[in-house]
Amino acid sequence: METILQAKDISKTYHTGSVDVYALKKCSLEFGKGEFTAIIGKSGSGKSTLLRILGSMDTSDSGNILIKGEDITHMKDKKLSAFRRRNIGFIYQDYSLFPEFTAYENIVMPILLDKKKADESKVDEILEECICVNTLKSSLSGGEQQRVAIARALITNPAVIFADEPTGNLDAGSAKTVAEMLSKASQRYDQTIIMVTHDRQMADYADRIITISDGEIK
Ligand code: ADP
Ligand code: MG
Repeated sequence: METILQAKDISKTYHTGSVDVYALKKCSLEFGKGEFTAIIGKSGSGKSTLLRILGSMDTSDSGNILIKGEDITHMKDKKLSAFRRRNIGFIYQDYSLFPEFTAYENIVMPILLDKKKADESKVDEILEECICVNTLKSSLSGGEQQRVAIARALITNPAVIFADEPTGNLDAGSAKTVAEMLSKASQRYDQTIIMVTHDRQMADYADRIITISDGEIK
């Protein structure tokens, strides 16, 4: 399997007042193309910190991150934001859709903004799966909003999609639908997905489960 993301000895300490929180301690991980990985651990174990650093949304104190062989660790702001736009998708617990737009508009937004050439058959397929494309964001259920957010992330063919507790605000039924959509996307589009969750049942949809405890990969 082709390696898409490689993290070597990632450490991160937060300094708040006189207290140091060792959030990540020399974490090393590799993720393959098309692999759907779940990272599980208790609240405060370092999951969100790890995900943000892997996805270049935050910096580590030491260690390196390579995405598609390119070292992003010390990439400058402008280059990094372009790299991020082209290679990284993020899915959040609160969906983060544009409220005044329809599902369809939210999904195709990244293509319009980046003047990217989209893979049209993939776009059609993704849209077809979203039953609610003409509905305004305000009328969508939480589960539907999260499916729209996933569709929006998928549409740009990112190297990696990161999801931080994507089912954290959902009831069990909607959570299952969202987990199934992620699993299906990893298979159908060979999409690399890294999902953080504290919910073991969600993690079972992934190909691989990694446990983090007190900032260390177990
Ligand atoms: P998780 O997502 O597993 O709940 P986090 O990565 O959010 O864990 O947090 C790991 C540890 O780092 C916790 O002890 C948390 O309190 C601390 N932490 C996270 N973010 C910050 C921050 N911005 N400033 C200070 N401490 C933080
Ligand atoms: Mg978290």
